[in-house]
Amino acid sequence: MTETLDTNVRIMPSRGRRATRTTLFDLGFEELRARLVDLGQQPFRAAQIYDWTYQKLVTGYEQMSNLPAELRVSLAESLPMDALTQVHALETDDGETVKFLYNTHDGQLVETVLMFYPDRATVCVSCQVGCAVGCAFCATGLGGLQRNLTAGEMVVQAVNAARLAHEHGRPLTNLVMMGMGEPFHNYRETIKFIGILNDKHGMNFGARRITVSTSGILPGIERLAAEPYQVNLAISLHAPNDELRSQLVPINDRFSIDQLMATARAYIERTGRRISFEYALMKGINDSDEVAEELADLLSGMLCHVNIIPLNPVDVLPYERPETADIDRFAAVLEARGIPTTVRYSRGVEIAAACGQLRAKFQ
Ligand code: SF4
Repeated sequence: MTETLDTNVRIMPSRGRRATRTTLFDLGFEELRARLVDLGQQPFRAAQIYDWTYQKLVTGYEQMSNLPAELRVSLAESLPMDALTQVHALETDDGETVKFLYNTHDGQLVETVLMFYPDRATVCVSCQVGCAVGCAFCATGLGGLQRNLTAGEMVVQAVNAARLAHEHGRPLTNLVMMGMGEPFHNYRETIKFIGILNDKHGMNFGARRITVSTSGILPGIERLAAEPYQVNLAISLHAPNDELRSQLVPINDRFSIDQLMATARAYIERTGRRISFEYALMKGINDSDEVAEELADLLSGMLCHVNIIPLNPVDVLPYERPETADIDRFAAVLEARGIPTTVRYSRGVEIAAACGQLRAKFQ
């Protein structure tokens, strides 16, 4: 494992403060054009800036060599590019997983993970500092919600990951919103973030390569179905009945499994897109044959896929990862019932790569 640490960065606690600062990464293409026109500039400058920022992946205005020098100086003041400051980066020995810890301008800690696979490079982005959902097995939920991230604070996580992937000679191919936070508790900024990444003037990142993961916020699922972006939807299910799910995912007290399934079916009907159900497998909690059969009953006939994620345990929480044989047995029950199933092991366990763990260590 290699470590880098920028000790010059002060980390200041600031619970509950809101981000009010606008950076270049917060502006959609049309917003940037309008901002430039307000500054007395030609609108075509927006395309130049988007190209430098999202295609050439430069780190500062001084590298945008076709912009007038005075414009570069004024933009650096009025629209800074330092939406987040990297304070830590951890890399697994094989170099296949990199975890970034960032500091926001108001002293909050944010995590991002970049994972290299033979055929793709995937970034896992955070959308909030902390999380209000409070899943029983999750390090991020332990401290509650601090604040939402802005679209720009999400965009820069993807851009930094794209830069590192580029340095490895690899394109960034996939993006999952499975880091800290619940995207549908920060709906407006999440959709703006997707729009900026998807913009053809910039990264032109295909919506089909983006996965939005929710704990089951039904109004968010309904709104997403009506959006123009063909993103993938993942629902963190973790249990097939209300009694068990309410213990693991407290939002289930508000939106029951029956309601969740009805909303998921309506989403599939409206979009024609398959849903992924995420299932964190925990020893002695939700990993029995009976529970697997119940899960198969629940999902039978649905256009869906189950991702079994053997739990990456958190030191202070009493949940454990099942034995490999039990993980395989659980998956085999689902497959025998015709439910498409994949077992996905968490990457970078040795670098605290599960959601919220590195941030918790620093705090
Ligand atoms: S698992 Fe996701 S939704 Fe649940 S507390 Fe953690 S970050 Fe929030």
